[in-house]
Amino acid sequence: MSKNDVTSPLVRGENEELLTGWGRTAPSMAMVQEPAHMEDVQAAIVHAGARGVLARGLGRSYGDAAQSGGATVLRMPSMNTFTLDPVTATVTADAGASLDEILSGIVPRGFFVPVTPGTRMVTVGGAIAADIHGKNHHVDGSFGSHVTSLTLIDGTGAIRALSPTDLLNSNDFWATVGGMGLTGVIVEATFNVIPIETALMSVDTERGANLDELMNKMIDADARYRYSVAWIDSVSTAGRGVITSGEHATLDQLPAAKRSTALVYEPKVVATAPKFIPGGLINKLSMRAFNEAWFRKHPKSRAGDIHSIAAFFHPLDGVQEWNRVYGPAGFLQYQFVVPDTAGHVIGEALARLRAVGAPSFLTVLKRFGPANPAPLSFPEKGWTLAMDIPTGVAGLATTLDGLDELVADSGGRLYLAKDSRQSPEMFRRTYPRLAQWQEVRSSMDPHGVFTSDLARRLQL
Ligand SMILES: Cc1cc2nc3c(=O)[nH]c(=O)nc-3n(C[C@H](O)[C@H](O)[C@H](O)COP(=O)(O)OP(=O)(O)OC[C@H]3O[C@@H](n4cnc5c(N)ncnc54)[C@H](O)[C@@H]3O)c2cc1C
Repeated sequence: MSKNDVTSPLVRGENEELLTGWGRTAPSMAMVQEPAHMEDVQAAIVHAGARGVLARGLGRSYGDAAQSGGATVLRMPSMNTFTLDPVTATVTADAGASLDEILSGIVPRGFFVPVTPGTRMVTVGGAIAADIHGKNHHVDGSFGSHVTSLTLIDGTGAIRALSPTDLLNSNDFWATVGGMGLTGVIVEATFNVIPIETALMSVDTERGANLDELMNKMIDADARYRYSVAWIDSVSTAGRGVITSGEHATLDQLPAAKRSTALVYEPKVVATAPKFIPGGLINKLSMRAFNEAWFRKHPKSRAGDIHSIAAFFHPLDGVQEWNRVYGPAGFLQYQFVVPDTAGHVIGEALARLRAVGAPSFLTVLKRFGPANPAPLSFPEKGWTLAMDIPTGVAGLATTLDGLDELVADSGGRLYLAKDSRQSPEMFRRTYPRLAQWQEVRSSMDPHGVFTSDLARRLQL
């Protein structure tokens, strides 16, 4: 039986697959199907077994959000068509279409997605379910804020059209945005796209010698740039770093000879990480060397560099399967947001992780603008710090538990798409609109069909 033949019973062994998130920790076995049509999704929901059903995109969430032990997992990239309407500047896409596929189709026609995360290997369904953010959150908000309508199959198998402006179902819409696949399976969505003149970015780079300087420069960058992000040297005690800010380059910023090819978009994969790296490549020494070299590579200050979209937004996509460099034990990403009034938590988090020797080469600081109406959406006005950390670091669990307390006391929270370890108490304490979301979710999934390893861990 093929994985997308949903009319025959699932065969144990044949359809079983061990699934993990991007961090490659805590695998669980599920029966995987690849639906070809909406009807396949409906059939899987109506015939769900006791362990239920979960949609999965490209598995780029770090922890246990896109896996569900013993359940039927619908791998949605098997449904991946999309169309661009250049007149209304909207894309209507199957939920399994990836931003990678969509960008390849729309950039040459002069459009760009409203929000992109640090990888283009995410699906539209995953982007809505995690309500993803990009380097432009302080200006444009998160992905869900640009979705004008979506089609979802709810827990009874019914097809539902949801929109943020329809008073009869806007609560269902916002519970689905950031709802981590627990309100239903999104099968299609329409979202706004933005016009661009070129497939290039005009980028300004500035170093900050210490954390205070870096954060002040970022606040200043808020008002001046649509996109901005800081990389922090996690090894340096000063908290030095590099801010890169940018705008879509306009035609008149390019030399005349380059204007006819201005919309050519050809992102490249330059390498693939080796299949097996026994202990991983990441240790304190390699981390110190990397952080030093990365800081020095960037100029103290430079304006108006022209970069490709891939180099500016998705540099990590240049190396396929780079998550293997952490070795078989895997890694986690700790990402939190705190309000502007709690900016000191950034320095405190860096110091505590440095103290236990938790090496990170990917330490990223961003500014967030105001939250949207979705009860489980992660972003809120303030600072967000994300660090990739190998799981084997001694003392890491206790340090992160302590940081959870600090984040919660400061009015912040952790990002579900990155989380693999927070407690249900921490979650309940930091997502104050959980009860409101649970009420809507119960009406959309009255029999509790949709669940995940994350949902069980957090008692959702
Ligand atoms: C290198 C890297 C960089 C990243 N950078 C960022 C960033 O800058 N900003 C950011 O916000 N995130 C970032 N992420 C996280 C990523 O954007 C999210 O985890 C996103 O949800 C992944 O999409 P996916 O298609 O892989 O979904 P998956 O990881 O497969 O699933 C994520 C969640 O969405 C649900 N889901 C998926 N498809 C559907 C569907 N059709 N219907 C209902 N629910 C569905 C799943 O059940 C699960 O709960 C990054 C991840 C990586 C690996």
